[in-house]
Amino acid sequence: MIRVTAIETGKARMKMAQRTARQGRGPLGRKIDIFTDHQWVEPLPILCFLIEHSEGRFLIDTGDTWRNSVPGYLPGWNPFYKQVQIRVAPHEEIGPRLMAMGIDPSEIGTVILTHFHHDHTGGLDHFPHSRIIGPKANFAVSTGLRGMMMGCLPQRWPIWLKPELVEMDGPAIGPFHASHAITKDGRIALVPTPGHVAGHVSVIVRDDGVTYFLAGDATYSQPNLLAGKTDGVTNDAMTAAATLKAIRQFAGQQPTILLPTHDPDGPRRLAEREVMVV
Ligand SMILES: [Zn+2]
Repeated sequence: MIRVTAIETGKARMKMAQRTARQGRGPLGRKIDIFTDHQWVEPLPILCFLIEHSEGRFLIDTGDTWRNSVPGYLPGWNPFYKQVQIRVAPHEEIGPRLMAMGIDPSEIGTVILTHFHHDHTGGLDHFPHSRIIGPKANFAVSTGLRGMMMGCLPQRWPIWLKPELVEMDGPAIGPFHASHAITKDGRIALVPTPGHVAGHVSVIVRDDGVTYFLAGDATYSQPNLLAGKTDGVTNDAMTAAATLKAIRQFAGQQPTILLPTHDPDGPRRLAEREVMVV
């Protein structure tokens, strides 16, 4: 028996054109659409997921930090950071959230990052004693100036951060051509879901009777996944669309509960054990 718990760590707002791009637009067109869009979506949750497994406690992504709203925290030279509004109170950060659940963050053996965007890494400070795992292919585009241009804040990462960078070096799982097992029993594994960013991974958790698909930002919502609609962030819409298709195929092969980072309906589906109908 594996337990998966959704933990909300504050809110993020984005433009409509970021959540759902005009399909067929190229990378530059998608960025222009975000800048010129005046419509914001409703505040979306920033979710982390706790997995309790016989081999330990695993946390998927770490949310953002209240410091995001301190003047100077975000690079002022990059106007993209003004296209997303992060609202995190100190007590909403993942550390205090876990403490409120009776779990000291040091009891999280392993933190897994789906990718290195700031709203997934902002809570890393709470885990100096944990093993941190992230995808090697995404880390490669998340450091330095390139990372800062692409939604990452490497200059804000904890100085102790030396993530264990993993590759998709394991066997195919369903429509995914490769994987990387996290637990010895293989019930928790990473699969490649590139598109939102290069090297993005999702976490699959295979419990008896149901599989949880922790999608990170591979899709912002189940309706967008089902409709095959890619986001405004991607620089590679073909790859993003192929990822959406692979997730749908996976869900067609086994009962699957989809849990993206920013889908407000995810926690309800988890509570009601509502599987995706493809
Ligand atoms: Zn992201």
